[in-house]
Amino acid sequence: MNSSEIRDKFLKFFESKGHHIVRSSSLIPGNDPTLLFTNSGMVQFKDVFLGQDNRAYSRATTSQRCVRAGGKHNDLENVGYTARHHTFFEMLGNFSFGDYFKRDAIHFAWELLTVVYGLPKDKLTVTVYQEDDEAYAIWQNEIGVPVERIIRIGDNKGARYASDNFWQMADTGPCGPCSEIFYDHGADIWGGPPGSPDENGDRFIEIWNLVFMQFNKDEQGVLHPLPKPCVDTGMGLERIAAVLQHVHSNYEIDIFQSLIKGAARETACADLGNNSLKVIADHIRCASFLIVDGIIPGNEGRGYVLRRITRRALRHGHKLGQTKPFFYKLVADLVQEMGTAYPELAEAGERVAQVLKQEEERFGETLEHGMKILEAALAKDSKNLDGNTAFSLYDTYGFPLDLTADICRERNVVLDEAGFDAAMAHQKQTARAAGKFKMAAAIEYNGDKTKFIGYEQLNHESKVI
Ligand code: ATP
Ligand code: MG
Ligand code: MG
Ligand code: MG
Repeated sequence: MNSSEIRDKFLKFFESKGHHIVRSSSLIPGNDPTLLFTNSGMVQFKDVFLGQDNRAYSRATTSQRCVRAGGKHNDLENVGYTARHHTFFEMLGNFSFGDYFKRDAIHFAWELLTVVYGLPKDKLTVTVYQEDDEAYAIWQNEIGVPVERIIRIGDNKGARYASDNFWQMADTGPCGPCSEIFYDHGADIWGGPPGSPDENGDRFIEIWNLVFMQFNKDEQGVLHPLPKPCVDTGMGLERIAAVLQHVHSNYEIDIFQSLIKGAARETACADLGNNSLKVIADHIRCASFLIVDGIIPGNEGRGYVLRRITRRALRHGHKLGQTKPFFYKLVADLVQEMGTAYPELAEAGERVAQVLKQEEERFGETLEHGMKILEAALAKDSKNLDGNTAFSLYDTYGFPLDLTADICRERNVVLDEAGFDAAMAHQKQTARAAGKFKMAAAIEYNGDKTKFIGYEQLNHESKVI
C-alpha cells in the first residue's frame, strides 16, 4: 500500500463512520500566539474544543501537515538519529467535538488497524494514562488485548523515561489523558516496550495517539474542564506507512525513498543509506512546506527556523562534497511525490525553488569558509570547540548555533555553549557602545544638532548572514 492509499483509506474509513473530511490547515496557526507551528491535527480545531467555535459537524477527520521544529514539540535534534522522527510529517486524525468519547475512539482505531489495514493483533501494544481505569477496561474487556500488552504510564513528571500519557498541545490550551498504540517491529531491532528503559529504541514504535481531551490548561497550570469531553487522535502517516510497507524506518517508505534518491542524484552520493541523505530528504519537505505557507528565511521567529533547517541541509550536502546549490532542485521531486495530495505545493513549486536557491547562494560561500575555520579549530583540539570560534562562525559566517552543535555532535566534540553566550553578550555590549559613539559622531558631523540623520548608519548589521 503506498502512502497515498494509506492516507485515503484512513479518511474514507472515518468518513464511513460519520466524520466530515476536513482539509489540512496551514503550518502557521491562525491567530494563535502560543504556537510557533501547527504541530498536530487538533490545532485547527482548538477553539472548537474550547467551546469558542462551532462547526456544522461534530466528527471530523484530517490528514494534517505538521512541523515539530520548535516550541513544546521539537524533533529537529532527533532527525538523523531515530527511525521515526521528522521535522515535517503528516498526521492522520479523527476528532469528536463532544460527540463520542473513549469507547468509540478505541474501537475505531482497532478496527482500522486490524481489519482495514490488516495488522496482526499480537504486534500491537497499548498504553493508558496511569489512572485511566476506564480506558484500561475497554482495551482489556472489549478489545481483548492481553494484560501484558496494556501498560499504564504517568504524566512523566520526574519520571526516568520519556513516555508521557498526558497530552498537551502547548504549555497552555486543550489537554488530556491519552492512550497510545505501539507496533513491535521485531526482536532483531534494538528497543524495549513503552515505559521500559530501552523504550527510545526503534523496536516498539508509537504509531497512534488517542487523546481524550478533557481540560483547558491556563497559564498558572490549572486544569479547567472543557465544556464537553472530546477526542483528538493522531497517527503519523510515515510511521504507519513503514509498518504497512514492511520496513523498519520511516526513511524507507515510498515518499522518502524517492526524495533520498533525488538527494543522492544531486549530491552524487553513491550510498543510498547515507545518513546525510535522510536529513536532506527530511529538511526539503519541511523547508518547502514552510515556504508554501508563506514563511521566508529570516533572522527571527519562524523565518529563522526555516533558515536553520535549510542551512543544516546545505551543510549535509557540503559533507557529501556538494559545494554548489543543489537543495532547491529537490523541490521538483517533492512536488512529484506530494503535489497531488497538496495542490498548494504543486502551485507554489517554482516560487519555493526560487526562495531556496537564493538562500543557498547566500550561504554557499560563507559555508565553505566557515567549514575551513571549524576544521582548523578542530585540528588544534579535536575534543572541544571553544565559544569564540562558535560565535565567529555564527556572527561572520552565518552558522546558526544548532548547526555548529550538530557538527560537534557528529564528531563527539564538546561545544562550549556558555562561551558562545558570553561572546554574544560581549559583542552586544560593544555594539551598543559603538552605536552610542556613532550616534554622537553622526549628529556632530551633520553640524546641525537638531537634525536627525536617520537610523540607517546607526543600525547594527544583522548578526546572521
Ligand atoms: P514520540 O514519542 O515518538 O516522539 P509523540 O508522543 O511525541 O511521539 P504525539 O504528540 O503523540 O507524538 O503525536 C501523535 C502521532 O504523530 C505519534 O503517535 C506519531 O505517529 C506521530 N509523530 C509524532 N511526532 C512525529 C515526528 N516528529 N515525525 C513523524 N511522526 C511523528
Ligand atoms: Mg515526540
Ligand atoms: Mg510518545
Ligand atoms: Mg504520543
